[in-house]
Amino acid sequence: MDRNNPIGSTVHYQSHGTPVREDGTQAHPSKCRAAIVTAVPDNYDATDRDTWDLSLAVLNPSGLFFDQGVPHGPGPGGWHEPYEGCAD
Ligand SMILES: [Zn+2]
Repeated sequence: MDRNNPIGSTVHYQSHGTPVREDGTQAHPSKCRAAIVTAVPDNYDATDRDTWDLSLAVLNPSGLFFDQGVPHGPGPGGWHEPYEGCAD
């Protein structure tokens, strides 16, 4: 197996959170969550891993969330490496 293949590795996913209310509060604000990489694009190249959109299984405390084509980035809806630090 290619040791640079990220499938099955753990990254972080920044959740979107619930919609902002009129008073500016959120029932569930955006949070950083653990996520497992489930798939990469067919032309994936590990030499520049952080430029790729990944498919993830996000491990929320109360349930799983699956998404495809998740972009790398620090904000809501993006994934990042644990060592990059969390936005929340
Ligand atoms: Zn994080």
